[in-house]
Amino acid sequence: MINKNTIKKDFPIFKANPKLVYLDSAATTQKPQAVIDALVKHYENTNANIHRGIYEMSEQATKHYEEARAKIARFIGAQGARNIIFTRNTTEAVNLVAQSFARHHLKAGDEILLTVMEHHSNIVPWYLVAKEKKLKLRFVRITSDGTLDPKDLVAKATKKVKLAAFTHVSNVLGTVNPARDLVSFFHARGIPALIDGAQAVPHMSVDVSAMDCDFYAFSGHKMLAPTGIGVLYMKDKYLGSLPPFLGGGEMIRSVSETNVVFADAPAKFEAGTPAIEAAIALGAAVDYLEHIGMKNIERHEKELAQYTLEKLRQVPGVTVYGPTDMKRRSGAVAFNLKGIHPHDIASLLDEQNIAVRAGNHCAMPLHKFLGVPATCRISPYIYNTKKDIGVLYDALGDINKTMFGS
Ligand code: PLP
Repeated sequence: MINKNTIKKDFPIFKANPKLVYLDSAATTQKPQAVIDALVKHYENTNANIHRGIYEMSEQATKHYEEARAKIARFIGAQGARNIIFTRNTTEAVNLVAQSFARHHLKAGDEILLTVMEHHSNIVPWYLVAKEKKLKLRFVRITSDGTLDPKDLVAKATKKVKLAAFTHVSNVLGTVNPARDLVSFFHARGIPALIDGAQAVPHMSVDVSAMDCDFYAFSGHKMLAPTGIGVLYMKDKYLGSLPPFLGGGEMIRSVSETNVVFADAPAKFEAGTPAIEAAIALGAAVDYLEHIGMKNIERHEKELAQYTLEKLRQVPGVTVYGPTDMKRRSGAVAFNLKGIHPHDIASLLDEQNIAVRAGNHCAMPLHKFLGVPATCRISPYIYNTKKDIGVLYDALGDINKTMFGS
C-alpha cells in the first residue's frame, strides 16, 4: 500500500526541500532512505571488488551483487539470474543488443522495425549499426490518440524485418503498448523483439517470461535506484550464441597472446568493474517497490494521471497529448499551453518549486510527428499526491494570468 500521508518521509529530498513538487520522475526518480542506506552500507562495510577477491569482504560484496541480480530476475519474471545482464542504463542495454545481435546477425537490406514514439536511445543505437551494415530502419506511425497504428504495423512487418524494437511505455505520451500481443505478432512472423522498458518497470508489474520477449531493457535510476546501473534481460537462446559487446576483465575465462575464451553469460556481457554499489542499491529499490506492491503503484499512478488530465483540461489554451483511454496510458502527461513556449512554462513553474520537464524529451521523431517542437511533461511517481497536482494546476493558472491577464 502507498500511505499518501507518510510516503514523502521515506525520501530525504523532501525533508531538505519540503515545498518541492517533483514531477519529473520519468527523467529520474528521487531515492528513498532505504536505497541510500544500502549504498552507504556497502561502502562502509563491504567495499571491495567482486568475483576475484579470495578474501571475506570481496566474497560478501560478490554475494550482495549476485543477490541483487537474482532479485531483479524474480522481479521481472526472468527464467533465472543468468538472464540478467547489468549495464549502465537502458541506453547501454540497447547498444549491447545492437552491437552483439544486429551487427552480427543482420545483413545489408534487412530492416529493423521501430515506432515513431521511441526515445532516442531506442533509435540511435540502431541508426549506428544500420549505417555500418546498410540496414534500413522503419518506423510504425501512431494514430491521433497516441497509440500504434495497427494498419501501419501490419504493413511494415514484412519479411525484410529481422528485429522489432519498441517501447513498452512512451516517455512522452504515456501510452502503454500491448507488449505481450506485439511480441506474439512479431514472433508469428519470425521477428525477434526487444522492448524498451525504461518507463514500464518502475510503474507496473512486468513479466518478461509471460511476454516472451527476446530482450528487455530498463534503467535503475528511474525506479528509485542510483544512476549508473541498468539491466538487459536476454532470453536463454541468445546467452550462449551472441558475442560480447565490450572486452576486458571479468568477462573472460582465459586470455593468451593469441586467443581469448569468454566467460559464460551474463559475465560475458559485463566487461570491467561494474557499478557494484549501484547494483546492490537497485536490489534495495526492488525490495522497497515490492513492499509497496506494483499493483498498488500502478493504481496510484493511474489515479494521479486521471486527476492530472481532469485538471489540465480546465486550464485555458491547453493541448494534452496521448491516449484519453486510461487503460492505454500510464502516469506521464505531456501538454502545451497556447502562446507560451514549454521552456517558459517550466521555468515559471520552477519559480514556484515545481519541477517538470520541457523540450523534446529525447523523442524528436515523435515531436515532429505531433507537429510541435517541444512539450511540457508531468511525470509523477509514488511520492506524488493529488495535492501536488493541485499546486501545479494553480501555478498554471497564475502563468496564464501573468501572460494574458486571464
Ligand atoms: N527509453 C525511455 C522510454 C526513456 O524514457 C529513457 C529515459 O528517459 C530511456 C530509454 C533512456 O534511459 P537512460 O538515459 O537511463 O539510458
